[in-house]
Amino acid sequence: MAPPLRGKGGSGMAPMSWPHGIAPPAAAWQGRARMLSVPASRPNAYTGSPLDRVSGQRDDEAFVAAALASPDALFVPVWRSQSLMKGVEEGRPEAILLSAEAAAAVRMAEGPWALLGLWEGRPVFAVDCSAAEDPLPLLPEGFGRFSDLRGVAGLLPAGEASVLAHARGLLHWRLRHRFCGVCGAPCAPRSAGNAMVCTACNTQHFPRTDPAVIMLVVRETAEGPRVLLAHSTRFPNTTMYSTLAGFVEPGESLEEAVRREVLEETGVQVGQAWYHSSQPWPFPASIMLGFHAEGLSEDITIDPAELRDARWFSREDLRNHAALGFSLPRPDSIARRLIEDWLEATE
Ligand SMILES: [Zn+2]
Repeated sequence: MAPPLRGKGGSGMAPMSWPHGIAPPAAAWQGRARMLSVPASRPNAYTGSPLDRVSGQRDDEAFVAAALASPDALFVPVWRSQSLMKGVEEGRPEAILLSAEAAAAVRMAEGPWALLGLWEGRPVFAVDCSAAEDPLPLLPEGFGRFSDLRGVAGLLPAGEASVLAHARGLLHWRLRHRFCGVCGAPCAPRSAGNAMVCTACNTQHFPRTDPAVIMLVVRETAEGPRVLLAHSTRFPNTTMYSTLAGFVEPGESLEEAVRREVLEETGVQVGQAWYHSSQPWPFPASIMLGFHAEGLSEDITIDPAELRDARWFSREDLRNHAALGFSLPRPDSIARRLIEDWLEATE
């Protein structure tokens, strides 16, 4: 018989206890839910892919071979995690997908490739050309340049940013999982490049997406609500105050990760957390899961390894941030969306 986990449960089950001394929801919970259960106002950056991922057909070798040979196929080249675009310098970036003919030299470079899906019936492949010192000679003249997707996602048409992010994330994984994590033997691609199989022990390896939580902590005070934002050590040359964020650990729920990260980085106790929206973040391999969370304590003790400063801000502070000498996260970030949607929904 299994020992009781904790205490004396009459039914043999351990009684529920709230972690970190957090009080169970009280009658006021409903009101707080209204304050913090904030709907997403619009899609996040890197979402809205136009692709049909055809996951059921990736293992069909005849289907994949026909897609590869199709004159209608499109290729998304990635060079050392950079994406092919034009118009970046002018502030009007556009993704460049190469036709089968234009991609011939890139494909000859024999980097990893993967089927991303079908775009209005046309097969779309990601293809890596990182082995080339200079990738531009592989491209037809005038076909743009390789640039970092992170800097321009908010300016790209939504579907294009999503396809470039998909290609970047998948090829990043492919290049770093060439050998089996179980036995160390080389792996070979399967499922049109969307999986790897060990050539010795047959273990299958699938692309990783590491969950990270990102949260706007809100605390009700007599003077009105205050939100917790922090200046990170990762952005020392900016005046940006942003939401807290961190990776989910094994065996941890998303809500537990929200509470732990806020407590570790600022010493603030968090109660309930309400899901808002998510954003793919293939830099290199994450998905950001956005929450609004209820701050239960006020005193801040920062973790100096992570943060330079953390403060409670009022609505007026957020609206007048420029005059007050600090900046908010980029408009296309989920951090900014959490802040703006909360401001709007709780007006
Ligand atoms: Zn193996």
